[in-house]
Amino acid sequence: MYECPVCGFNKLEEPMYLDTGEPMFVICHCCGFQSGYDDDDQGFSFQAFRNKWIEEGYPWFNPKKKPKCWDINKQLEKIKDFK
Ligand SMILES: [Zn+2]
Repeated sequence: MYECPVCGFNKLEEPMYLDTGEPMFVICHCCGFQSGYDDDDQGFSFQAFRNKWIEEGYPWFNPKKKPKCWDINKQLEKIKDFK
């Protein structure tokens, strides 16, 4: 499992980026950030996209993938150290 660099959701089936930094065009089920698109075509930094997501009230991009025991506070605690 892989972690989203934007929202900290850590159950992605594929990595957002390869070790070389190449985007995999993976969409986060949680915040909806897509590597290679939101960061490039749309020009979002992780932080800008994260702030937008937080301002919108942490909407789930794909609610079907939302874990039953998902805890926004735990995830926010984790991402406060993210850049
Ligand atoms: Zn995310």
